[in-house]
Amino acid sequence: MYAEIVASGTELLMGETQDTDSSYLGARLPALGLELRQITLVGDDMERYVEVLERSWKRNPFTFTTGGLGPTVDDVTREAIAQVFGEQVYVDGQQRQVLIDLFKSRSTEMPVRNIKQAWLIPSARAIPNRMGTAPGWWAEKEGRVIVAMPGPPRELYEMWEGQVVPQIKERVKGSVVLTRTIKTIGLGEALVDEMATEVLGIQNPYVGTYAKPDGIYLRVIARGSTEGEAQALLAPVDEKLRRIFDKSVWGIDDETVEERVGTLLHQQGLTLATMESCTGGQLADLITNVAGSSRYYKGGIISYTNELKIASGVPAHLIETHGAVSEPVAAAMAQAARMRLNADLGVGITGVAGPEALEGKPPGTVFIGVADAKAAKASAYRFPANNRGLVKRRAVTSALLALRGHLTSAV
Ligand code: AMP
Ligand code: MG
Repeated sequence: MYAEIVASGTELLMGETQDTDSSYLGARLPALGLELRQITLVGDDMERYVEVLERSWKRNPFTFTTGGLGPTVDDVTREAIAQVFGEQVYVDGQQRQVLIDLFKSRSTEMPVRNIKQAWLIPSARAIPNRMGTAPGWWAEKEGRVIVAMPGPPRELYEMWEGQVVPQIKERVKGSVVLTRTIKTIGLGEALVDEMATEVLGIQNPYVGTYAKPDGIYLRVIARGSTEGEAQALLAPVDEKLRRIFDKSVWGIDDETVEERVGTLLHQQGLTLATMESCTGGQLADLITNVAGSSRYYKGGIISYTNELKIASGVPAHLIETHGAVSEPVAAAMAQAARMRLNADLGVGITGVAGPEALEGKPPGTVFIGVADAKAAKASAYRFPANNRGLVKRRAVTSALLALRGHLTSAV
């Protein structure tokens, strides 16, 4: 069953607010058996809103709108739905009382403008909002539904989970969608595409590929009238892809690379220590986001200065000869972390987050070392340099993937 989202608010068009509401909804529609076909952003502009809403309502069993339910004149979602349905708004007595009580509980008078939030049309009923004053609308005409929800994310999430999902499930019986994400590393997008040719281009299950900072993902989406039927379609393709990509697969579904590394360390009974320079502790942060990481993570040193690198066990002559941002120093940092913290494995990251070059090395240059009792090795990376935050994040992801590589090749 098809669905569309219309997200409204001039702030979305201006780039002031990111449309996270649509991402939130988009991620949750497949599990309900709804196939999202389009997301439209529209400003607080009645004429355009009516235009996109009408088009969506005419061609989809479900349209979801976000935003525009506030009390001010630029919040026009109710007016737009009324116009699309050709109906008149009226003040609903019960909703009016709900609002009056709500303001009373906050010890204030209801501003006159807020009466808009008690409006209904004959084809809509109110969806309670437990986080704010704006009720949503479940509006339905000619067998097609428009669900209007508030823009503030916490209000939307609560309304969606608590009120909307149960009603959708009631209507969309007999359609189950199962998905599987297979996460690969070390292969380019074109190569992944080529290797998966056999299963690409099928409609059900549908296989798509996505490039992410931690590798190429393959996403399998299977539809059936029952869970068993969807599962029977998904399973053979899932198995086939795991066989084709074999050792390049590092994770399944929601598994993160820090979780994968944690599982491998725990299984192999190994401990880890880190020494970070340009990433400022982000690696330690991600590692310790995993529950149970204290079983294998000994800790980390943020050696932002050369002084601290040397005090932590990096030989001064390596820094003098090669510079702090170099392969030998990354390897020595990994080794020094291991020794200092008495761990089985060490990881070292040194690089230029930017925007300025350092030691004549361009921003985005990063070296990552991995050390065990036998050896310390480092590799060079070059990330797109126009964003400091991104360089740091890519460096941390790459360090975790390097560690994962080390842990899987060692067994
Ligand atoms: P509104 O319901 O249109 O009055 O929106 C109220 C606030 O919710 C806006 O000022 C934004 O901060 C937030 N908001 C609205 N739409 C979205 C959206 N699509 N994604 C994330 N936040 C939003
Ligand atoms: Mg708005």
